Amino acid sequence: MPSNEHDRIIVAGGGPTGLIAALSLARQDIPVLLLEQQDAPRDHRRATTFHPPTLEYLDDLGMVDKVLDDGRVTPVWQVRDRKEGVIAEFDLGALKDETRYPYRVQCEQMELNRALYAELDGMANVDIRFSHEVSGADQDADTASVTANTPDGEARFTGRYVFGADGARSSVRKSIGVGFEGFTYDEKVVQYGTTFDVSAAMPDIAGVAYISDPDEWCVILHLPDYWRVTFSSREGEPDDVAVRDDVAEARMAAFFGASGATVELHRNVWSIHQRVAENFRKGRLIIGGDAAHINSPMGGMGMNSGVHDAVNFADKIGQVWRGEAGEDILDRYTRQRRHVALEDVRQQTIRNTKFIAEKDPDERRKSQAEFRAIAEDPDKAFRFMMGSSMLAGLRAANALE
Ligand SMILES: Cc1cc2nc3c(=O)[nH]c(=O)nc-3n(C[C@H](O)[C@H](O)[C@H](O)COP(=O)(O)OP(=O)(O)OC[C@H]3O[C@@H](n4cnc5c(N)ncnc54)[C@H](O)[C@@H]3O)c2cc1C
Repeated sequence: MPSNEHDRIIVAGGGPTGLIAALSLARQDIPVLLLEQQDAPRDHRRATTFHPPTLEYLDDLGMVDKVLDDGRVTPVWQVRDRKEGVIAEFDLGALKDETRYPYRVQCEQMELNRALYAELDGMANVDIRFSHEVSGADQDADTASVTANTPDGEARFTGRYVFGADGARSSVRKSIGVGFEGFTYDEKVVQYGTTFDVSAAMPDIAGVAYISDPDEWCVILHLPDYWRVTFSSREGEPDDVAVRDDVAEARMAAFFGASGATVELHRNVWSIHQRVAENFRKGRLIIGGDAAHINSPMGGMGMNSGVHDAVNFADKIGQVWRGEAGEDILDRYTRQRRHVALEDVRQQTIRNTKFIAEKDPDERRKSQAEFRAIAEDPDKAFRFMMGSSMLAGLRAANALE
């Protein structure tokens, strides 16, 4: 058995997945060592959408108020056509009997990260080390270890289990030696943050809108202090050109038919992928979040899935830790979470990405007719929203043995 010194869980990576895992473990009195490669919490403008089941988990951990305070509650979202306007509108209020949070919240993922670091900071059983880059992981019968590059040189840390939440390029995943099969889209996404009032140019816009177009699709998200506008990349346009002030502003002005659409807040270009690891566990080494699966951001599911992974993992480790379950329960973590990644998130985000960018006129008409039919039928709309809000997929996966 491990010595007391090794009586801890090592979490590699302090993004939302690693931080939620650390907090969920610490709340069960399980000691945690979290290793983060950056020298401090960094502000990345990535996820903004929090779905109902994620808000419930955050509530269970006492963290939901931060997201509600810093975010924008968004009960209604739209599917639109660039020329025709609203195709379908979905009011998540219809899910009020299914969830305590029948809405999406648009809040920067970095706000959640900051709040989680602050919460973990004061906890006696949590040790956070910045500037610790995990380079590999290994295990024996009783322990799991990582090697990390630290300010004092290479160091080795041992615990009972390692949770690899070290993002898409995960060193822990590479140490496990599992494949990360899938594909990368040819198109990238170009993200602009603006205080330009999008609702002045589009008065009927909801707080979340997916605007399809064969030539230039767009996703619009309303955050508390600004609008995030996401376009497809333009063929042949280098990333450094897409983020130039003049290019960003000309693109916004052309899209919204309004001058003065400045892009003063942020400009990013992201590649998009669909990949799921072959297995999320090898013995005492377990992976979650982007380390285990990455998907297109259409539908806002990556960070939400990472949070769900972290809660699921921490619950099962807690049972093993207290002697309530054998280690094989950790395979159930893989079965449940890999099922969601493959059968739910992957399917939905591929469909969303195809719909918004579809060029074929017949396919466009067909999928728009399908969206209209769903929105007009309350039963169909309810089932659709249970899926798009991640409630149905999570429940189905949690029921798997
Ligand atoms: C443009 C865009 C929009 C998105 N929108 C949404 C959305 O609205 N909703 C949603 O749910 N998802 C969204 N996503 C996806 C979401 O951002 C990711 O799924 C999420 O960040 C995954 O969290 P994570 O903690 O698993 O990984 P990360 O956030 O990547 O965190 C990994 C952490 O590990 C650290 N790290 C990496 N390597 C090492 C190492 N070797 N050693 C130690 N530390 C390491 C990193 O510094 C980082 O802090 C979006 C993504 C993009 C690109």
